[in-house]
Amino acid sequence: MTRFIFITGGVVSSLGKGLSAAALGALLQARGFSVRLRKLDPYLNVDPGTMSPYQHGEVYVTDDGAETDLDLGHYERFTGVASRRTDNVTTGQIYQEVLAKERRGDYLGATVQVIPHVTDAIKEFIQRDPDDVDFMICEIGGTVGDIESLPFLEAIRQLGNELGRERVLFVHLTLMPYIPSAGELKTKPTQHSVKELLGVGIQPAVLLCRCDRPIPSDARRKIALFCNIREEAVISALDARTIYEVPLRYHEAGFDEQVCRYFGIEQPQPPELGRWHHIVDRVLEPEGEVTIAVAGKYTGLLDAYKSLTEALAHGGIANNARVKLKWIESEVLEGEDPVVYLDGCHGILVPGGFGERGAEGKILAARFARERGVPYFGICFGMQMAVIEAARNLAGLSAANSTEFGQADEPVVGMLTEWTRGNVRETRGMGDNLGGTMRLGAYPCDLEADSRVHYIYGEDRISERHRHRYEVNVNYKDRLEEAGLLFSGMSPDGELPEIVELPDHPWYLGVQFHPELKSKPFAPHPLFESFIAAAVQQSRMI
Ligand code: GLN
Repeated sequence: MTRFIFITGGVVSSLGKGLSAAALGALLQARGFSVRLRKLDPYLNVDPGTMSPYQHGEVYVTDDGAETDLDLGHYERFTGVASRRTDNVTTGQIYQEVLAKERRGDYLGATVQVIPHVTDAIKEFIQRDPDDVDFMICEIGGTVGDIESLPFLEAIRQLGNELGRERVLFVHLTLMPYIPSAGELKTKPTQHSVKELLGVGIQPAVLLCRCDRPIPSDARRKIALFCNIREEAVISALDARTIYEVPLRYHEAGFDEQVCRYFGIEQPQPPELGRWHHIVDRVLEPEGEVTIAVAGKYTGLLDAYKSLTEALAHGGIANNARVKLKWIESEVLEGEDPVVYLDGCHGILVPGGFGERGAEGKILAARFARERGVPYFGICFGMQMAVIEAARNLAGLSAANSTEFGQADEPVVGMLTEWTRGNVRETRGMGDNLGGTMRLGAYPCDLEADSRVHYIYGEDRISERHRHRYEVNVNYKDRLEEAGLLFSGMSPDGELPEIVELPDHPWYLGVQFHPELKSKPFAPHPLFESFIAAAVQQSRMI
């Protein structure tokens, strides 16, 4: 019997609901329970795939090819449970479903309304393929009081009523600001936020209060009294030194204990948190330090590179080194000698990206790394730029370019219109909709024996997640290999180049997929582990 835990947020956004949900998932796992995590997003976009990274941060891609909210990345990193398409829903998707049913005539002449039709669709989503896990943790995006979240709150209220308190818990995350002139943490915003929730019929049983200092007992009593919550269930959610400390902090504050208590679950043994202690120790007190230059396009909003930043940190955990990141808007490399920005860095990474702006700067970064023997890691767009660089400067194809930027005389990167997924042929065209039409999700890749990447993975065939429209053009494979760029990973049918490397370089790899999406603090991705190891080597040489 699956129990449902709904996490709502109040007062302000950006309090870290996603992390709270992920940390609770980790704590329940550490107590021996199975969990899944889901996110309900109240905006009207069908998925975040078409939103600018500045609007929404990273788009997190699942194995089954869904473009989802970046909180799903937190869920996977904290619990190791692979997310699926059914773990993220938006108002846009719900309406799309309801309207398609209406057009088919499935409502048999009824007037289609928010209650019950939209709320039914939301409830159905929440309960879809639960896999018999012990706990389904659902985060509701947005802040209580937003017009957009009302149908979601109504749906979870109904579920609470239908399934009963034995199976449904409401957790509310709020802010307790410290007001220096009064010298206290203020409870009023929390009281108002809970009142707002009560107004739509939801009584939270656990309150997580974000605060920068412990809540004094009189303030806790006051909240308990006004919000109708047991005093022990008012949990201090203190700022943590690293996100991986959040499960430990929550446990100390009694979060998992209160959840078990609410459901009447006897748990005499404390959870097994050894691995989280180990991770936090490594993050806070590593022995070495390396600097990695990241030449990207959205460096003004680091949420756009959430999984990447975490995966690099995981590489640091594996090598007992702190990974300092030097963010570089790649466009600046075009105006000045890249040495100004890149000299002294122990590794250079060019991440995924879209569009022409800054592309030449990324090509210069790849060239700098190649010529100077600095470890280079190109991810997706970063691989494509490395291939263009090698084509121009190693193979002598000076007109090499990507058709993403327009007509190219030597289209070493181009749009593929047909490819195979399993036994199915997938297609796309120039004029397709932008939403959901890239090569998305997990694809297998065969690794060349004796290549660096084969050595790193220790496997012949791997599976990694993709999100791109363009591909390295296989027709240039022979010419580029003759020039020294080895195509060490290919799709099983040999059509799609997935990995390139320079055998005569200390560490130079480009991958068409996004390995950062699968890295976990307790299981760092082998490519990031190896890249940081190479950077550590490099730091010893400088
Ligand atoms: N813009 C490139 C493409 O669509 C790369 C995408 C990416 O880096 N995720 O193929």
